[in-house]
Amino acid sequence: MRKFVIEDECHAEWQCEFNSFKEAMSELRRRSNIPWDSEPNICPCTGWKNCERLYTVTEYIVGDESFKPQSEVEVLRVSSKGVVWLNDFEKYFSGETHNNHGQ
Ligand SMILES: [Zn+2]
Repeated sequence: MRKFVIEDECHAEWQCEFNSFKEAMSELRRRSNIPWDSEPNICPCTGWKNCERLYTVTEYIVGDESFKPQSEVEVLRVSSKGVVWLNDFEKYFSGETHNNHGQ
């Protein structure tokens, strides 16, 4: 069994876990409609006004205590400049590529 974890790569924050990539995506879609300066999009750091969230979805095997990522894809960037959906995640959706560039 696998789990899919939303992380914020900018702040190395483990955000929430899902049973499928699809569920993680629907949470990110929800976040894309929340203002950048409101929870949970607001950055936790002191420079938050100039900072951003970079949401990734990382796939882990449940029970693997090494927490070795099976794949990781950058999906969504949220900042005062706006919301940007990143290109890579579409490949993941179609099942063509499993990216390992975060590793
Ligand atoms: Zn920050």
